[in-house]
Amino acid sequence: MRKKIVVGNWKMNLTLQEGITLAESILSSLTGIDDNRQVVIAPPFTHLTAIGSLTKGAAHVHLGAQNCNDNASGAYTGEISAAMVKSTGAEYVIIGHSERREYYKEDDALLARKTSQALDNNLKVIFCCGEPLEVREAETQNDYVEKQIKAGLYHLDGAHLRNIVLAYEPIWAIGTGRTATSAQAQEMHAHIRAVIASQYGKDAANDITILYGGSCKPSNADELFACPDVDGGLIGGASLKAEEFLGIIAAITRAQKQ
Ligand code: PEP
Repeated sequence: MRKKIVVGNWKMNLTLQEGITLAESILSSLTGIDDNRQVVIAPPFTHLTAIGSLTKGAAHVHLGAQNCNDNASGAYTGEISAAMVKSTGAEYVIIGHSERREYYKEDDALLARKTSQALDNNLKVIFCCGEPLEVREAETQNDYVEKQIKAGLYHLDGAHLRNIVLAYEPIWAIGTGRTATSAQAQEMHAHIRAVIASQYGKDAANDITILYGGSCKPSNADELFACPDVDGGLIGGASLKAEEFLGIIAAITRAQKQ
């Protein structure tokens, strides 16, 4: 049975004190998370240790980073290695977010190396994919996303794939208030599962968690999470407000087990 997961990506928001306050309010009101569900909080690097000391005591709540470097260590001023992330107590790292791809020009080859670094350091990877608006308008989104997955993940063997969570995030829906319809999300998630099946087999594809991201909020989470191939959400803006993030977590607790 694959896990249902809600991830809060705080991006470059909140001071350390604000982050602690937010994490405390989320954790103090969290209910209904069972063995088949997880919450991941991904604050900025500077907050990992402090937020990790709060999540450590909470059942089914995990810590994640938003990025790591593709090198093991060395003279890379300002960068953070996967081993450093792991040493904070983090279990997850987000790789290939569209903001990293677009603003920092992270290409497929770099993301494949980052993914390997993360896995080599026993982190689980939340690997993001998703098409820009012009690709969706040209109706070539399936090919676009398939290429991202092949380039970023197909170098991994089946054992490594077990530590990958996929996140489909149509770029036109991120932070725009424009959400993919549940039909659009389901169609792409089913396609992604087929792409995984073609390389790793049906069982692996059936076991992999595929999250949806892009203006997910309490008012649309139930409908999105009801799709058979949508296993939770990667949440940006709505993860910065305890009430909204808890509302999305409540939706994942209502979603049927597969
Ligand atoms: C994201 O950036 O991963 C994201 C889904 O953002 P938002 O929820 O704000 O659209």
